[in-house]
Amino acid sequence: MPAQKPIQIVGGGLAGLALGLGLRRREIPATIYEAGNYPRHRVCGEFISGRGQQTLARLGLREMLEHAGAVGANTAAFFSETKSTPPRALPAGAICLSRFTLDAALAERFRETGGELLAGRRLAESFGEGVVRATGRRAQAGENGSRWFGLKVHARNVLLAADLEMHVSPLGYVGVCKINGGEVNVCGLFRRRANENAVPQNWREWLRGRPGSPLNRRLAPAEFEENSFCAVAGLSLRPRQAASRAEICVGDAITMIPPVTGNGMSMAFESAELAVEPLAAWSRGEISWAEARQKIAHRCDAAFARRLVWAKWLQHLILTPSLQNPLIALASHSQWFWRMAFERTR
Ligand SMILES: Cc1cc2nc3c(=O)[nH]c(=O)nc-3n(C[C@H](O)[C@H](O)[C@H](O)COP(=O)(O)OP(=O)(O)OC[C@H]3O[C@@H](n4cnc5c(N)ncnc54)[C@H](O)[C@@H]3O)c2cc1C
Repeated sequence: MPAQKPIQIVGGGLAGLALGLGLRRREIPATIYEAGNYPRHRVCGEFISGRGQQTLARLGLREMLEHAGAVGANTAAFFSETKSTPPRALPAGAICLSRFTLDAALAERFRETGGELLAGRRLAESFGEGVVRATGRRAQAGENGSRWFGLKVHARNVLLAADLEMHVSPLGYVGVCKINGGEVNVCGLFRRRANENAVPQNWREWLRGRPGSPLNRRLAPAEFEENSFCAVAGLSLRPRQAASRAEICVGDAITMIPPVTGNGMSMAFESAELAVEPLAAWSRGEISWAEARQKIAHRCDAAFARRLVWAKWLQHLILTPSLQNPLIALASHSQWFWRMAFERTR
């Protein structure tokens, strides 16, 4: 068999690690360069929902994640500051695991499969032949006069009405879900005007919600694990097509789906899986790098275009204060709306 050309992956988040694992299953030499180290906390709702769960199963990782303490989520409830839905069954279950554990477990597995993982190595962002971009979200100063920022902390001593609670307010939304180790993940996406500080200092107040709100009551007894706190700013939630990117990209490097869907990690896993076969063909010398790029972009756009459009509209509706209560009422009374909103965004 002729020698297979090696592939370098810049970014050892979920997309980069899943791609590395997929390539190693085909015995293709793969190196991942990761700017950070493992384990580390990430801003993420840590709620894996969608087809990426099947990717994890095909990579033979489900058992490992269960062993690492992944928790199943089967119900969800939505809250505005004055109304709520009852807990409702999710049309398909999700799995919840801290990124602290998840990323480190995938990194370890990648190394075990013979992959080379160079942590603490930030590569210059030049993506020639043989180099895949898995560098995550692309920073964006502002969108339509406002900026997005995300906050995440783990907490103990929180009793939830459903496996996932989603609390919406005029400032943004906060998801609270059970994760491994008896903790809950408290993660919010918020908007500020473009001329305000990127991330506010009083993050606890942002995550706890306004006094009197259901979120504030829910988190009243919470004990935050302060060392798990992290923040991110400069998010862009405008959908982009993979075909518009000059490089081969996987995960958020293609585009970010609004976090309310809980589908971003799934897209990272799915896009990695969609990239494996064209990259393997390039590695064997059967197609050019340009052909591989085209194939991967086409596959990703076909898989993600519809959900990105629905997610954009869903997030827009959820963040429109005058629509928050009508949406909660609709989700409470219409099984059709609940299913439709869930299925079209993943
Ligand atoms: C507020 C918020 C809540 C979210 N909640 C959820 C949720 O509940 N469920 C869900 O599915 N998704 C959620 N997401 C989205 C999810 O976190 C992302 O979709 C997912 O992390 C994307 O994985 P990735 O590998 O593409 O990027 P990342 O996980 O960001 O990984 C990219 C990696 O590349 C590295 N890197 C970057 N540049 C370089 C360089 N030059 N050299 C070397 N390394 C580099 C970075 O250090 C990083 O580790 C949320 C996102 C936000 C902002």
